[in-house]
Parts: sequence; structure tokens; C-alpha cells
Amino acid sequence: MEAKIKGLKCKECGRLFEAKAHHVCEFCFGPLEVDYNYEMIQKTVTRESIEAGPRSLWRYWGLLPVESKNIVTLQEGMTPLIHAKNLGALLGLKNLYVKNDTVNPTFSFKDRVVSVALTRARELGFTTVACASTGNLAGAVSAYGAVANLKRFVFIPADLEEGKVIGAGVYDPIIIGITGNYDEVNRLCSEVADAFKWAFVNVNIRPYYAEGSKTLGFEVAEQLGWRAPDQVVVPAASGSLLTKIYKGLKEFEQLGLIEKHNTKLNCAQALGCGPIASAIQDGTDIIRPVRPKTIAKSLAIGNPADGVYAAQLVMKTGGQGVSVSDEEIVEGIKLLASTEGIFTETAGGVTVASLKRLVQTGRVAPDDVTVVYVTGNGLKTLDAVQGKVSRPHVIPARFQDFRAVYDSLQNQTPAHASA
Ligand SMILES: [Zn+2]
Repeated sequence: MEAKIKGLKCKECGRLFEAKAHHVCEFCFGPLEVDYNYEMIQKTVTRESIEAGPRSLWRYWGLLPVESKNIVTLQEGMTPLIHAKNLGALLGLKNLYVKNDTVNPTFSFKDRVVSVALTRARELGFTTVACASTGNLAGAVSAYGAVANLKRFVFIPADLEEGKVIGAGVYDPIIIGITGNYDEVNRLCSEVADAFKWAFVNVNIRPYYAEGSKTLGFEVAEQLGWRAPDQVVVPAASGSLLTKIYKGLKEFEQLGLIEKHNTKLNCAQALGCGPIASAIQDGTDIIRPVRPKTIAKSLAIGNPADGVYAAQLVMKTGGQGVSVSDEEIVEGIKLLASTEGIFTETAGGVTVASLKRLVQTGRVAPDDVTVVYVTGNGLKTLDAVQGKVSRPHVIPARFQDFRAVYDSLQNQTPAHASA
């Protein structure tokens, strides 16, 4: 069979390399990206072929960087796209949608990239997988590594939320906790990847891994009835997710699966770690690294690998960079939960708070078909909302005691009315 992957192409100088485990151009140090044989893909991928596929992201197999059908999967993807009528009404938006990726197998969008990365790693003959993680990736690599019978090493900052450490540990990986921030973890992992023959999903396997995020563009277009949204609001850590959602929409256009469309990309970050959003606000693609200080730890990458490309795309599409405070993040989490019944981790709080800002500043119009990406589950970051949500009224099991509580509540405004 003809190969669907042509090779890995340098994003800067355009040189083509063999489709093996490397991620940096030997000539100019630019990042490598998978180059596809679109002439061949065009012949096989249609709306009908996709709709006939499995109810997982593997319905887009024809556009993913693997050659075999022997995939590593836990049925990730095809998560709900919710028409958020309550939140929309509150913000004055008629066509607001939430892409709810909290319901993936390990409760974050990282299942998408890891499913693709481990499938490719196995094709390339690796028996050990590893990652540098801010938490969600550690869980996904551990779970998918387990189901694929691969040895797994995960490297995390030692001060990570306990929910994420346990959420990875339960799949029995070897966890290395580094006394330092993510950027330091990442540097160490580059050294380890050079010394050991392991598949580091976000280091030497990164070109394949990152392609998994395209499916968040594909699915939204398919779920909207084969059209691109007018606006997307995407949380940014490395910036890769933003660029890949865009790539997904553009590939659908190129293959004629959707009409040409100018989707505006908006980048959501925390004030305590917003190097990409700051650059966009300054109208530049020069990313100034920062030392992260935010409760949104899954977005706490101070020196984002794809920051330049993300900033360029946001500006090119006419989108905006938004950075929100820790208080706004917590409010965003509570707002989404109390209106749409979706409990997100801090990253989703960043996204919802950013959407609110975009509406207030007139960047998102009432009729725009707007999609906000909620990429991780709230049970992973309970600390962020501890003491800030409803608590039980503890009483003895007597009717008169309940009656007293009930009567006292009649004089109060309900908590959800404060949003
Ligand atoms: Zn190059």
C-alpha cells in the first residue's frame, strides 16, 4: 500500500526528513511537522467514509500520522459538542457551543495525542514510552502505555495537584517528580531522550503526537453539520493545540469536506502564565518566557514550544489573546458548572473566563457560532475550588432541623443567581 506519510518537514526551512522519531531540523533547528500525501488521502477520505467510521477520533484515521490499523485506543474522542443555551443566554450569545473533552478515558484531551503518539511509537518499534507533563499527559501516557503493554516513565513537577499524581499513579507507571517547574522538567527530558532509546511522546515523537489535536478541529466541524465555527476559544500551554485545531479545519477545507471559512482563533491563558496572550496583545510574535505562577497548572508552560506559531495564527485570523486572573478562573469553573453542568479543571476556567472577556470587549458577537474548548475534568484540580463551592448544611436527622434550614434559606438569594 502507498504510504500516507511522506516524511517530516521542517516548519522553517522546508527540508524533508524520514518519518522516524525526531522532532528538530538538523540544519536550522526548526520544528518538524508530518507531511502527508494529500493526493492519496483525497481519494479515500469523504464525509461518508468518516461517518461510517468508529465513534472515536479514529474515524479520521485517513488524516492521522500512522500507517497501520493496529491502533492503541481506549475509545477517545467524539466527545459531546454541547449547545450551551444557559451560558449563552447569560452572556448574550445565541450560538455558543462547549466542546466537552472532560469525558475522555483519562478525563482530558491528552488522550487524543497519546493515542496517536503510542500507535506511532509502536509502529516505530519502541517498547518504552515517556513524557514531560504538567499532569494530564502523565495520566494519559500511563493509561495508554498500560493497555499497549509498554514500559512507561512520566516526568512531572513535584508540586503537582494530588488529583493528577494519583490519576497517573493508578496506572502503575514510574513517576519522576522534579523539584522545579515544567520548563525544567522538559529540559531534563530532552537530555534523557537523547541518552535512552525511549519514545518521549512530546519530545522525539512530538510531530506525530501533536497531530492528535487536529481531531478537535475535525470533530467540531463534523458536529456542527460540516462547517467551521466563526470563533474558537482555546486554552494555550505550549500553543500546539491552537495551531492544530486550525490545521484540522484547513485540512477539511482542502479536502472539500467543508466550505472555506475564516474562523477566528482566540488564545486563552492565565495572567500568571500568559506569554502567548501577552505577545498577541502587544501585536508581536516574539514570545518572552515567564516564570509561571497560576492555579492553572496544566497551562503553566513559561517557555511555550509552539508559542510563535500560535501567536502568528491568532493575529492572522483576527482573533485575540486573553489572560485572566486566578479569581476569574475559579469564577469561570463555577459559571460553567452552574449553567451547563460541566465540571472543568482550571484550564477550562481559563477558557470560560476568557470567553466572558471577549464578549465584554465586543470581540465575540451575539450571532457568532462560537466554540469554547474545555479540555480537562474538574476532579483533577479539586484544590482550586476547595472552600469556594456549596457545602452541606449539617443537621441531625430531625424534620424540625431541616425545617429551620429551609426557612433560613427562603431569606437568601440562591447562590447560582450571583453569576
Ligand atoms: Zn530546517
